[in-house]
Amino acid sequence: MKIITTVREMQAEARRIRSAGRIIGFVPTMGFLHAGHLSLIRTAREKADIIVLSIYVNPTQFGPDEDLSRYPRDFDRDEEMARRAGVDILFYPSDSEIYPPGHRTFVEVEDITRRLCGASRPAHFRGVTTIVAKLFHAVQPHVAVFGQKDAQQAIVIRRMAKDLNFDVEIAVAPIVREPDGLAMSSRNTYLSPDERRDALALYESLRLAEERIRSGERNAGVIIESVAAHIRSKTHNRIDYVACVDAETLDPLETVSGRVLIALAVSTGRTRLIDNIILDV
Ligand code: AMP
Repeated sequence: MKIITTVREMQAEARRIRSAGRIIGFVPTMGFLHAGHLSLIRTAREKADIIVLSIYVNPTQFGPDEDLSRYPRDFDRDEEMARRAGVDILFYPSDSEIYPPGHRTFVEVEDITRRLCGASRPAHFRGVTTIVAKLFHAVQPHVAVFGQKDAQQAIVIRRMAKDLNFDVEIAVAPIVREPDGLAMSSRNTYLSPDERRDALALYESLRLAEERIRSGERNAGVIIESVAAHIRSKTHNRIDYVACVDAETLDPLETVSGRVLIALAVSTGRTRLIDNIILDV
């Protein structure tokens, strides 16, 4: 596995791979790898010859009161996991490489970035689309794999790739969960044992919503309220949002039908967690 730390070197390597007629699959991450990230690597492997994994904790997607400074990092562990997972190139740039002095350009997707997570994290998606656009220019992938865990992010990236004519296939891989149902996340390491227990209510509430829909409930307001009530029943949970929206457009639904995304964000103690399910109704 090759480790590359500069954009120039990454671009030169991408040019060499492309001119040899090989397909580049790309998995962008913020590191502290877990089984969710590894599943994205496997999906990329099915679609590509050379797998590039990036590790970069992108400061522009964190708000001023968020967890940038304490975000978990362990490069040695990540390097070992990436090597074992068969990553060919680990792209690990520094902040000054990505945002050199004088950087003034951002990429912004309008409208859909103000909903759901965007309502309480106003600059978040601007940071995400900016870093993903920059990484695409560095890595020059044929296919990039994102996780359904960040459902809104995947929709926003698809929109950006289309609107800016990136010649990249955007693939989305399913959510990987702990055996008890908690969606895997690097941020789960923040949770105390009590918070970890209360965090189970996130996926439980989504399963509850699924059951309600399967047994005939179609009123989105009723479903949202049942999800919210279950989450609120645990003392450490504070709801940011529970949403029932069209899975392609993120438009809010009154009546559930078609491809429906039920998404939520909850602070469990000081840790903000997200989860979602997609149902075909
Ligand atoms: P992160 O390192 O948290 O920024 O995540 C990097 C990529 O991994 C994103 O595309 C996430 O959606 C994806 N990801 C994170 N957690 C999971 C999970 N539990 N299952 C599937 N994909 C995930």
